[in-house]
Amino acid sequence: MRCPFCGHDDTQVKDSRPSDDGSAIRRRRFCTGCSQRFTTVERVQLRELTVVKADGRRVPFDRDKLSRSIRIALRKRPVEEERIERIVNGIVRHLEASGETDIPSQQIGELVMETLKEVDAVAYVRFASVYRNFREAKDFEAFLGELGEPT
Ligand SMILES: [Zn+2]
Repeated sequence: MRCPFCGHDDTQVKDSRPSDDGSAIRRRRFCTGCSQRFTTVERVQLRELTVVKADGRRVPFDRDKLSRSIRIALRKRPVEEERIERIVNGIVRHLEASGETDIPSQQIGELVMETLKEVDAVAYVRFASVYRNFREAKDFEAFLGELGEPT
């Protein structure tokens, strides 16, 4: 593994440990060139996914980006790190298991909303308000009304 700081080819693994839910292995590495430390994560990937954006552009599915947007929605909410990890894993597995390699970004957004709805109402509204980009207050009110409905 090449060092991300100096490009040196020789980095050493200092230790390896499974993530909390056992779905990934984290390796702490040390660069013998510049002495910087960094971590790599190894996880199962069932298939390569491509996200098809609304304008037709295609970009490789980025797990970290998905994880970041979910973490932003859940910021300061009473949801444990381990559970967040499971939520992200669950969404990725769901997408991988769909059998499709091209996934419309809208489908991912809907899936995240469905999932957050079960987890935390505040996070759901945060994510949905960004995702759906509400322009009119009444749309948002109508949407909030949906929260009260049994699922
Ligand atoms: Zn280095």
